[in-house]
Amino acid sequence: MFDVEKIRKDFPVLQQKVYGNPLIYLDNGATSQKPRVVIEKINSFYSLTNSSIHRGIHFLSEQATTEYESARNRVKEFINAEHDHEIIFTAGTTASINSVAFSFGEKYIKAGDEIILTEMEHHANIVPWQMLCDRKGCKLKIVPIDDNGDLLLEDFEKMFTPKTRILAITHVSNALGTINPVREMIKTAHANNVPVLVDGAQSIQHGVVDVSDLDCDFFVFSGHKIYGPTGIGVLYGKEKWLEEMPPYQGGGDMIKNVTFEKTTYNDLPFKFEAGTTNYVGAVGLAAALDYLTETGREEIEEYESELTGYAHGKLSQVEGLKFFGTSANKIGILSFLIDGIHQYDAGMIIDKLGIAVRTGTHCAQPVMDHFGIDGTLRASLAFYNTKDEIDRLYEALLKVKQMLGT
Ligand code: PLP
Repeated sequence: MFDVEKIRKDFPVLQQKVYGNPLIYLDNGATSQKPRVVIEKINSFYSLTNSSIHRGIHFLSEQATTEYESARNRVKEFINAEHDHEIIFTAGTTASINSVAFSFGEKYIKAGDEIILTEMEHHANIVPWQMLCDRKGCKLKIVPIDDNGDLLLEDFEKMFTPKTRILAITHVSNALGTINPVREMIKTAHANNVPVLVDGAQSIQHGVVDVSDLDCDFFVFSGHKIYGPTGIGVLYGKEKWLEEMPPYQGGGDMIKNVTFEKTTYNDLPFKFEAGTTNYVGAVGLAAALDYLTETGREEIEEYESELTGYAHGKLSQVEGLKFFGTSANKIGILSFLIDGIHQYDAGMIIDKLGIAVRTGTHCAQPVMDHFGIDGTLRASLAFYNTKDEIDRLYEALLKVKQMLGT
């Protein structure tokens, strides 16, 4: 039985008041709050275990290394990858995508080649590819969306040519909430001999992700959006690609041997982990994944799906409210505007009522351009949110309308 009140007690930040009102945190798409087990794990690691990994022969270094490598194994199990060495720790989704765009681009992309993205990508899955195009003279092709926020799949299928080198696509849109049919899209791409990078920044925290079942070539996500620490992220890559791709950064830990004449690179995964990594973040991330597994990933998915349906129903009762992102297949991201009211004005008023939502373009400017708007209000749900909080958001929006006279 999913007990949301019990779960809420695990999150210290949720226990506070903001401007005299109980905090209602609905900005989970930007970053999620941390359960006590994650905070305590980081505290105990710094208090008892902290030491540089992979380099020392002393007790603490060996302990820290063991914990770091077991965190890698934990991630591997969580996403069902085949090998531990297919899990690269990075600083986050953005760092992971930049790493693939550079390393894959160096090896496989030349002038005239094509990269397929979609109109609903976060800037983190646009700009690194644009930078690659500037360096190499390749070009982007963009799968369009319709007004519900669904991809136009017929257009997608016609986009492949012998020059297509990679498809990079978000699993779930951070601005619209759409869950893309990535499994089928990966099949189509593979039938055209094109590998696929899936941006999982908004999907992995909401349900079970199995990279072996998806058969994606790369899968990336951030620790801070999945109830773990910030500054840590994951790049999963199939061994065959990671083996062939050159490293992204040079420095310590990614080398086997260095002379001024020549450097030989380390084996996977270390080849892609230059310098002192965020080993404390990795250990904290593993604690978050354990917490989610114990809570029940299927149960979380079910609870969030019911809450999303409730939230859509409730907010649609606000007269003049228009949703952006009305796909039949979506997660708990509710992007909306209210007739005649600017998102910033509404956001500022509901903040004073203790409710945190996001305003702006959500780093997805092309989505805003599609709808001809300069931003939305976005309430993004987590499994610690409740129907009561949605009711309070609804009442706050009525107050906004009353105050701004519409
Ligand atoms: N991709 C998507 C879909 C996102 O929602 C985000 C963050 O909001 C990112 C990438 C970038 O994540 P990060 O800032 O953690 O690197």
